[in-house]
Amino acid sequence: MQSFSYEKAQSVEQATGTTGKFIAGGTTLVDLMKLGVETPTQLVDVTALPLAQVETLPNGGLRIGAMVRNSDLAHHPAVGKDYAVLSEALLSGASPQLRNMATTGGNLLQRTRCPYFRDPSYSNCNKRNPGSGCAAIGGHNRMMAILGTSDACIATHPSDMCVALTALEATIQVEGPKGKRSIAIADFYKLPGTTPNVENALEPGELITYVDLPAPRKASKQVYLKLRDRASYEFALASAAVVAEVSGGHVRAVQIALGGVGTRPWRAHEAEAALTGKPATAAHFRAAAEDALKGAKPSSENGFKVELAKRCIVRAMTMASA
Ligand SMILES: Cc1cc2nc3c(=O)[nH]c(=O)nc-3n(C[C@H](O)[C@H](O)[C@H](O)COP(=O)(O)OP(=O)(O)OC[C@H]3O[C@@H](n4cnc5c(N)ncnc54)[C@H](O)[C@@H]3O)c2cc1C
Ligand code: SF4
Repeated sequence: MQSFSYEKAQSVEQATGTTGKFIAGGTTLVDLMKLGVETPTQLVDVTALPLAQVETLPNGGLRIGAMVRNSDLAHHPAVGKDYAVLSEALLSGASPQLRNMATTGGNLLQRTRCPYFRDPSYSNCNKRNPGSGCAAIGGHNRMMAILGTSDACIATHPSDMCVALTALEATIQVEGPKGKRSIAIADFYKLPGTTPNVENALEPGELITYVDLPAPRKASKQVYLKLRDRASYEFALASAAVVAEVSGGHVRAVQIALGGVGTRPWRAHEAEAALTGKPATAAHFRAAAEDALKGAKPSSENGFKVELAKRCIVRAMTMASA
């Protein structure tokens, strides 16, 4: 690890007035610094900023401070009551110790677990070293994405929390040298295209301050289902976050997002369109799942994810409509 300076910011203005790299829980960043993937020379600790509260918004929604720890958010009474999909997603991620450290802002910006990205001895990684190629295409790619990939990068977005936030249609509040702005989560993450090194819509120096959730839908059923190689402490092979209104045996409204299969938290618009207004039956869930995966492009080792993701959608919808 190379040497770096460290300071603890006491205000948002102080944090955004520096050119340093923000550090919150450190559970992603410190790992990557030890591996030599991230090499900041100046760290700005943002954990003392007054952004660790969860508050109700005037419109009935919820405002989550960027410094709220994953454990605290998962166990917050308002989240458990009205945004169960978020609580379930958080509790399915990492380990209790990691969740006690990890923050909302840091979780949004965690980096891919692609092994080639995390190992600088591989020079060919377009995300880490733009223009160098992609070792995963034609290499070991069992964990890689099948939706939203490009010829330059097939890395999976690893977060569980962000899949739930995508289904809940969260808005990311940011503050930077040019002021404040709001970014819908649908616009926050970039597809890799030819520039997989550009992962999100943040501009230099911008700090995530809050995540806003819309007012909860009355009578919505929420499920986060995560399929993985072992029952805990493992990233998703496929996951589904479902927020559904089901009544009279029909799906009245539904939002579905997928994890473990996309280069970003993946909103399954096709599945939602196929289900809205339809009977809540296994046949309709399966048809919607087929639509959701129509654009899938598996690599040599992860063709199984196509069927796994379909079954994940069917099972999550079955649970949500039970
Ligand atoms: C062994 C292991 C297993 C894991 N398993 C899972 C899992 O199953 N599911 C899952 O979803 N995650 C998993 N994770 C990832 C974990 O959730 C993230 O490491 C964590 O959420 C990152 O939060 P942090 O506060 O520690 O971020 P940090 O490491 O402090 O920061 C991460 C990045 O975010 C930036 N950043 C932090 N806060 C802000 C802010 N407010 N504004 C702008 N930039 C900011 C930092 O500059 C850095 O680039 C795992 C991690 C480990 C180490
Ligand atoms: S999949 Fe993306 S992150 Fe992984 S080696 Fe290829 S370019 Fe790098």
